[in-house]
Amino acid sequence: MSAETIINALQPYKIRPNGRDRYRAICPCCGERNPNTLSVGVTAEGAVLVRCFKLQCSVGSICAALGLEVADLFPPRESQGAPLQRRRLISPAQALDLLHDESQLVAVVAANIGHGTSIDDEDRARVLQAAGRIAYLRAEVLA
Ligand SMILES: [Zn+2]
Repeated sequence: MSAETIINALQPYKIRPNGRDRYRAICPCCGERNPNTLSVGVTAEGAVLVRCFKLQCSVGSICAALGLEVADLFPPRESQGAPLQRRRLISPAQALDLLHDESQLVAVVAANIGHGTSIDDEDRARVLQAAGRIAYLRAEVLA
């Protein structure tokens, strides 16, 4: 998905330019009406970086609030040219940040199971999604 698509998805959240390739908007998760809660940056590769300054909402929950997947923040692979010339779309630090979000979710579900709470289909689906995202991040960092 292109950065432009993400910017458009943030239109209802009063996104506006804040310097070169940088924007400010209302955090779709917790921002209410504060137009400075979300920082949005677009990398030279066309990847979109989002950060919530109010409650440090996870990248996953910000994407979910926009009806997007975390993978949508990165440009499509076919736009990256030949595989050998392909550049990493996310930095190891970003990958670690995203891994942190996903592993927290898995840990919460694991703790529930550990306490004898049965998990519902939604939790099960979300854990499988987390596993997919973790595999994606691994492939992305090793690329
Ligand atoms: Zn937030």
